[in-house]
Amino acid sequence: MPELPEVEEAATRLRAVALRELITMVQVRHPALARSFPPQAQAAVVGETIVAVTRRGKSQRVGLADGGTLEVHFRLAGDWALGRRGDPEPPHERLRIDLAGGARVSLVDPRALSVVRYFPSGTLPPSGLGPEPLEAEFTVPALQEALRTRRVAVKLALLDQRVVAGVGNIYAAEALWEARIHPGAVAGRLTRARVARLHDAIRTVLQTAPAGRYHAPDGVREGWRVYGRAGAPCGRCGAAIGRMVQGGRSSYYCPTCQR
Ligand SMILES: [Zn+2]
Repeated sequence: MPELPEVEEAATRLRAVALRELITMVQVRHPALARSFPPQAQAAVVGETIVAVTRRGKSQRVGLADGGTLEVHFRLAGDWALGRRGDPEPPHERLRIDLAGGARVSLVDPRALSVVRYFPSGTLPPSGLGPEPLEAEFTVPALQEALRTRRVAVKLALLDQRVVAGVGNIYAAEALWEARIHPGAVAGRLTRARVARLHDAIRTVLQTAPAGRYHAPDGVREGWRVYGRAGAPCGRCGAAIGRMVQGGRSSYYCPTCQR
């Protein structure tokens, strides 16, 4: 599942081929995508030039010359397949965008859960997202303030995109291991010292995420400290990594060194 580092990497790849390019053709290849990106929205972007590709949280935003925006969310399994017009159709292609220079941008998604929405100039709603964790706005006091009133487990608080944008199940688990905080600790009761450790850990795990891991075949995505490693030894203390369910999703943690 793509989180901040993977979405950032995807936006970077898209930017490299799409910036300053004119959209000559848009084709939705799956009915699920047509629900979020209907024909009139598709028609509105044809003939527009792409002037920006940015990321906010786990969304990508494609800025158009007329002020409109295409917002793309990969959900569980989306990705870009970037090629040239005339290339063979990539597997699981859901959306195809042709650019005047000959490039072809395909949104591929075996689960067909990705969402693309078009916002005409001036209609993009506020994101409702918390601070970007790698930007200066994400400070220890800001994180402490966001957690202060939350009586839920800190793991669940981290998944709340209003607390910090772009962190999901994998990086939340990794950050809590790095900070030596139990995922079930009550968010609002963390001491300032622990919040500071968590703040630094979130940045560390996001910044050290191996590039391109999202594109590796399943089973080759190594390098996690706890995520998906139930029963394996903790790299810090050797205890067996545990697993528990929080909010319907698996949390992985070291029962010995995360308190
Ligand atoms: Zn441990």
